[in-house]
Amino acid sequence: MDLLPELKELSKKTPSKILLVVLDGVGGLPKELGGPTELAAAKTPNLDRLAERSALGLFTPVAPGIAPGSGPGHLSIFGYDPLKYQVGRGVLSALGLGIPLGPGDVAVRGNFATLNPDGTIKDRRAGRPPTEENRRVIEKLKAKIQEIDGVRVELYTESEHRFVLVLRSEGLGARVTDTDPQTTGVPPRPAEPEDPDDAKSAKTARILNRFVELAREALKDEPVINGVLLRGVSQKPDFPKLPEVAKVRAAAIASYPMYRGVAELVGMEALGLREDEEDPDRPRAKVEALKAAWGDYDFFYLHFKKTDSKGEDGDFEGKVERIELFDALLPELLALKPDVLLITGDHSTPAVYKAHSWHPVPVLLHASYLRNDAARRFTEDEAAKGSLGALVGPVLLPLMLAHAGKLQKFGA
Ligand code: ZN
Repeated sequence: MDLLPELKELSKKTPSKILLVVLDGVGGLPKELGGPTELAAAKTPNLDRLAERSALGLFTPVAPGIAPGSGPGHLSIFGYDPLKYQVGRGVLSALGLGIPLGPGDVAVRGNFATLNPDGTIKDRRAGRPPTEENRRVIEKLKAKIQEIDGVRVELYTESEHRFVLVLRSEGLGARVTDTDPQTTGVPPRPAEPEDPDDAKSAKTARILNRFVELAREALKDEPVINGVLLRGVSQKPDFPKLPEVAKVRAAAIASYPMYRGVAELVGMEALGLREDEEDPDRPRAKVEALKAAWGDYDFFYLHFKKTDSKGEDGDFEGKVERIELFDALLPELLALKPDVLLITGDHSTPAVYKAHSWHPVPVLLHASYLRNDAARRFTEDEAAKGSLGALVGPVLLPLMLAHAGKLQKFGA
């Protein structure tokens, strides 16, 4: 459901302030059935006290049963139907590496592969090489390939066998098929325009095919990494922008490039804050950045990543610790007196599941004009008793705007 056109009609500028906190992958599961989830196991006196005075519910970012990536999960929270507003995989990878993309640039996700002497694929991931090995091969390719037919070619290491290819030029399209056949024993496919009459995409396909040839030539003496597979050919999408839709000045406080990138796609300003080797999440730095910017914006997106990372690692206790760390910061967020405070996750990442899952995520809404509800803690069990009920799809943005007094009534 795309509510953005309606919201643009209904929204009005007000001085009220909205603070949206995303605890990445915060939803969890018990270690064994009947036990506590990560949120229930965490000691969270501040969140508990807040939950008693808030409305809670369970949020499903895309649809029941769908485990969202962080991109679609965040777009849903920001009010964008992730089934309609899709970001290509190449662009998501580029955003993840903090590579700036212009409107016409094309981003592609690449795999290093091992090819047999007859040109068929032996290993689609070239034995998952160490990232250092990836860097060495990228340097080798960069020395030989900088431009094809006047199109600038840029190469970036992602990790292991994965790299990102960016084409910078005018007149390129991105409706191009993958060269990766997703199987072994067959040769890579040629890149082709999805529509043969689409001259821009045909040009991109031609450049990509030439790149594949040049890369094979450059890597012909390599014992393992001797081929490339390309997929997710995409361009930066032109989404409606939150400042116009909701009439807010929106700021993103996130350290990882992908989240900054997705926030910028919807028109937020990503505030100066970079990854830190010691603790890339740096909760303290984020709270300071929030305080410093409080007077300059009226919509703040504050992102914490490590709840998800610990879940992916299968580290139940580590995830509990990151939840407790957030709880300790909460009084400082409340001291800013946001008119609306919404806390949720972009998906669940249960430590026992070690991956993103489809389980609904707790959501907590703190504002004036709330109904009483029975939820006493920010946990999955308690949120199920909350007055917000089961929320599916991009409905949190209208809820935040309404509670901030930023929406006029619909119809007479
Ligand atoms: Zn996530």
